[in-house]
Amino acid sequence: MTTPGKLIVLTGPSGVGKGTLVRSLLPRHQNLFLSISATTRQPRAGEVDGQDYFFKTREQFEGMIAAGELLEWAEYAGNYYGTPLPPVETQVNQGNFVLLEIEVVGANFVKKIYPEALRIFILPPSFTELEERLRGRGNDSEVAIAKRLARAQEELAMSHEFDHEIINDDLETALVELEKVIFS
Ligand code: ADP
Ligand code: 5GP
Repeated sequence: MTTPGKLIVLTGPSGVGKGTLVRSLLPRHQNLFLSISATTRQPRAGEVDGQDYFFKTREQFEGMIAAGELLEWAEYAGNYYGTPLPPVETQVNQGNFVLLEIEVVGANFVKKIYPEALRIFILPPSFTELEERLRGRGNDSEVAIAKRLARAQEELAMSHEFDHEIINDDLETALVELEKVIFS
């Protein structure tokens, strides 16, 4: 019999470095899979449908909700984001580790329906540094950045509700801590 896999939820404000951490982590661990979310947000330059996200219209996304195809979903900065259920079920049943990189509302919902999930919150070293990273990334409009920063205040206040809090100051240090929490 296959050992059951593990569901890992990685959350934290936009711009904190979740994507950067995940991109470093995935090539190091063969049994770790990243769930590809569906979203109604417009693709950023260089983003590929089916690779970064499944890009959907609002109508298509609402159809997915109605059909029960999403493990969780939330509205964030004016768009829908959600985790397609079937690939997560398949990977976990095959004994693999599945990583969801999602915002806080969805992460809290996962706790209700999947209490054994490991929930990790990534914190910035300071709010100023978070703002600098968001601007430095250079791919969101001023309006989008303002929405993300407003949301970040609420999200940071919820960090203590998670199983682990990791500060992404020095990237390598945060990576080592993340690996310890996931694989120990
Ligand atoms: P998120 O996925 O949480 O929205 P990103 O991974 O896109 O965040 O990171 C936002 C920006 O911060 C990127 O430009 C990235 O290079 C930078 N960044 C990530 N981690 C660090 C770090 N530890 N120190 C400095 N800059 C970082
Ligand atoms: P971005 O637009 O910067 O790619 O993502 C915005 C926010 O949505 C990030 O905090 C990201 O983690 C979150 N997000 C991405 N996919 C999902 C998802 O499937 N569900 C939820 N709840 N949030 C998601």
